[in-house]
Amino acid sequence: MVHALVAGGGIGGLACALALARGGHRVTVLERRRELTEIGAGIQIAPNGFLALDRLGVGPAVRARGVHVEALRLVDGATGELLAGLPLSGEYRRRFRGGYAVVGRRDLYGPLLAACRAAPAVTLVTGASVADYTQGPGDVTVRTADGRAFRGDLLVGADGLWSAVRARLVGDGPPKPSGHTIHRALVPVARVPEHLRWNTVTLWAGTGRHLVHYLIDGGRHLNVALTVDDGARELVSGRPVPREHVLDRLDGLHPLARNVAALADAWREWVLCDRDPVATWTDGRVALLGDAAHPMLQYAAQGACQALEDAVVLGGLLDSAGPGAVPGLLAAYRDARWSRAGSTQLLAREMGDRLYHPSGALARSRDALLRSLSEEDLYAKVAWLHGARDFTGPGPAALTRELVGPPATAEGGRPVRATAGSGRIAR
Ligand SMILES: Cc1cc2nc3c(=O)[nH]c(=O)nc-3n(C[C@H](O)[C@H](O)[C@H](O)COP(=O)(O)OP(=O)(O)OC[C@H]3O[C@@H](n4cnc5c(N)ncnc54)[C@H](O)[C@@H]3O)c2cc1C
Repeated sequence: MVHALVAGGGIGGLACALALARGGHRVTVLERRRELTEIGAGIQIAPNGFLALDRLGVGPAVRARGVHVEALRLVDGATGELLAGLPLSGEYRRRFRGGYAVVGRRDLYGPLLAACRAAPAVTLVTGASVADYTQGPGDVTVRTADGRAFRGDLLVGADGLWSAVRARLVGDGPPKPSGHTIHRALVPVARVPEHLRWNTVTLWAGTGRHLVHYLIDGGRHLNVALTVDDGARELVSGRPVPREHVLDRLDGLHPLARNVAALADAWREWVLCDRDPVATWTDGRVALLGDAAHPMLQYAAQGACQALEDAVVLGGLLDSAGPGAVPGLLAAYRDARWSRAGSTQLLAREMGDRLYHPSGALARSRDALLRSLSEEDLYAKVAWLHGARDFTGPGPAALTRELVGPPATAEGGRPVRATAGSGRIAR
């Protein structure tokens, strides 16, 4: 048995605590916030995410709270023409052994939290902001901003986009603003006309912007999000904005899409950030997980799913391990996960640039390509992501080509950063 310290009690941190506790270990989660909650609207979970949740024992509880979506639809934002539709029932469920659902963030977080609280081996400490760590040959000590020290056999940095553990381990500075601003709002379904209550994730792809909407909260609300490629560089998170500000940004979108956006009143905006993929996820007894390891734009709807996958793989590798095996097993976790998660980071950027926001000739070639794809072709394209069974291995060659070099350690044991090297995708 080992004693694991987990920095961060978000979706990734709690999933990690659960996975380690199920492997017979003691876990202390150090969460900066005073309360353990998850705020925000809907989150899409593909079959790979549900499989991970099943392996953590909370799949049924999350599934029961989800809206099980019938299709993912990409629509020409100007004309309303359906460019591609991925059916998510029938053959999709059979092939990927599970469905696709939208759940409220609380409905994903709640079952993870309840399971952690029910696990005697998990201790949840709130108001504990991890500031730094030191490690010796046999242990790691975490220091919090208020001067407390916690000692364990390993530390998992699951402290999100602005990870303090990553700052120390990778040192790649602040996250990168993508130049895209997302505006989000919830509309009570009673205010949504019948002809707009589709049980699909519908994405209207316009020039430099897209609008997406889907039902959440068991069908009680419509989640609406407008993303605009506006070059924003200021790091904004959840700022309330007037309705008119959002309605003024719908240039070129179809009247039906405008009608959907006009249903919403209370909008907030975020400037989306990510980081280049790195292969340096571990340093001795310290490892990164979730957004701390591989923060990605939301366009592939996979950030939380990848965090859940990380937790399952880490838990499986450490299952019943003793303290002496920790550094080797953390390195094995990194080897198993970095390429797949890095590919997903790059995929998310590509989806934004090439699928959702292109204009002119690029948009026309996108349309031609999408129109040529059969249902079978669409299933084949998502199979590596949605249909994963063991959550390891490389992503598609076209994406992993962008990742430069294997994980490397320079002399003296200082980890070396491997970043996405090509200017084509990396910002
Ligand atoms: C607009 C948007 C839509 C998205 N949609 C989807 C989707 O549809 N599907 C999907 O799978 N993913 C989606 N994601 C991604 C998903 O939200 C994240 O990938 C996921 O929440 C990451 O979980 P995490 O636990 O790694 O990080 P976080 O959720 O950021 O949790 C980190 C935790 O660490 C705590 N913390 C931070 N610093 C410290 C510290 N120094 N000490 C202690 N605690 C600390 C924080 O308070 C927080 O509780 C979306 C993201 C965005 C922005």
